[in-house]
Amino acid sequence: MMLDAPFFSSQTSTMSKTFKTVAPTAAPFPVVERVETLLVDLPTIRPHKLSVATMNGQTLMLVKIHCSDGVVGIGEGTTIGGLAYGGESPEGMKLAIDTYFSPVMVGQDATRVQALMARIGKMIRENRFAKCAVETALLDAHGRRLGLPVSELLGGRLRSRLPVAWTLASGDTAKDIAEAEKMLDLRRHRIFKLKIGARDLLEDIAHVAAIKRALGERGSVRVDVNMAWSEIEAAYAMAALADAGCELVEQPVASAAALARLVRRFPIALMADESLQGPETAFEIAKASGADVFAVKIEQSGGLFNAQRVAAIADAAGIGLYGGTMLEGVFGTVASAQVFSTFVNLQWGTELFGPLLLAEEILATPLDYSEFELTVPAGSGLGIELDEERVAFFTRDGLRKTISVAGQGG
Ligand SMILES: [Mg+2]
Repeated sequence: MMLDAPFFSSQTSTMSKTFKTVAPTAAPFPVVERVETLLVDLPTIRPHKLSVATMNGQTLMLVKIHCSDGVVGIGEGTTIGGLAYGGESPEGMKLAIDTYFSPVMVGQDATRVQALMARIGKMIRENRFAKCAVETALLDAHGRRLGLPVSELLGGRLRSRLPVAWTLASGDTAKDIAEAEKMLDLRRHRIFKLKIGARDLLEDIAHVAAIKRALGERGSVRVDVNMAWSEIEAAYAMAALADAGCELVEQPVASAAALARLVRRFPIALMADESLQGPETAFEIAKASGADVFAVKIEQSGGLFNAQRVAAIADAAGIGLYGGTMLEGVFGTVASAQVFSTFVNLQWGTELFGPLLLAEEILATPLDYSEFELTVPAGSGLGIELDEERVAFFTRDGLRKTISVAGQGG
């Protein structure tokens, strides 16, 4: 096959002046030929209220890596509330990949994913979410090439079904109880995570207690504060939440040091989320005995291999594991499911409900959420197929998002 990767064309043009013209030969391995990025705006089924933002839609940054053997891999980058959660946005990821990642990748061996990620790591600092999207696409492509699911490229899965928590975040107690009852009836979720921290502390505690009272033993209740409290507020609330039957508090405060001071003071598990940003921070938290549980997210970790490194640190430190989400769409969710399926321990289940929060399906065959669990796809690569027509319909034209008259912004 003829290749038009830059290093082949420049070489042949100078060589042909001195030597007999030799047709460029194909590299002995498939190379990355082209990196394509799209922004896909999808509406959510309801407003999703967090202490940092209210989401009415989700933007998926999809990256498609086209390889010289005809294989295409897809990866995804998402954030929570634009720049409200972290330093990367879908638009920023697209720009970074188009401008900086793509030239580093084109012409490189597409089959050596870790080597290519190391090359990218040398030339591009930070950008964990964008790196995760690119690594996912490379693993999807390589899995398709070999006829293996991504989990098998990561050492092999230990489980094919993952428990999935649902987030109650309507902001209204009665609505949240009705939504939880519906999920129990559908046998889709029985672990509920309540997003709190935006309102008065006492109101929040009453909200959690009312939901736990309504669900009783039928559902477990956890809360995510997204760093909204001070250490003193957290100490007060954690005692009250433990009394109310809440089993876990996720990132009540921003500071990792404050988190370490709060841990094990109350009979309720403390989970690190925002303060966990890959293996180095995982090591620091573990060293300080700063959490009972890690919410591992592939994007926060900087990729799938790094998520496995975070899990290894947790295991070594006796810290529990939970599979977190950045409210990813199907590609980020399945990439997460593939890596979580390889964790030796996954004591707290997962929250891979992202696709269920979206009102539109973009897969040819939807994911299987049933009996309170998600099935990890078993096909090659990520094991899912994009509905190209649906995606084209929701793909944004250019970088800028058009805000509707109502100011809802899709
Ligand atoms: Mg969280």
